[in-house]
Amino acid sequence: MNNNLEQLYRQVIMEHYKNPKNKGLINDEGYYTVHLNNPSCGDDVNVQVKIVDDVIVDIKHSGIGCSMCCSSASIMSETLKGKTTKEALEIIDNFYELVKGEKVNDKVDLGESVVYTGVSKFPARIKCVTLSWKAVEKGINDKK
Ligand code: ZN
Repeated sequence: MNNNLEQLYRQVIMEHYKNPKNKGLINDEGYYTVHLNNPSCGDDVNVQVKIVDDVIVDIKHSGIGCSMCCSSASIMSETLKGKTTKEALEIIDNFYELVKGEKVNDKVDLGESVVYTGVSKFPARIKCVTLSWKAVEKGINDKK
């Protein structure tokens, strides 16, 4: 990855960290809440999914954590909102491959989550960026 791209990715991450999208939980029984934490870093997130007719119509998140964890929750919510549960699970699987530095299916639209491409060089951070994605994955599977 060249330096310009790396810099651009870092900017996108910081922007989501400072101005997270879809942040704040909702008190509505249509939402299913999953709580996960990552003790090794201190990240702690709640993610809410609203699934209607197999489509993720809304995602909310809140929590505390490092910039990687919090920015990733924001990007995850933007990437997966509006997708069917099947599409979302496919994107989630490919995101896990991406952050491990493995090959991803280029037919799958990972949206802005490609900014975490460089995380594979920092294995301790993989848990940070995948935490909120694991929460949504659990939410989808629990609701099945
Ligand atoms: Zn973290």
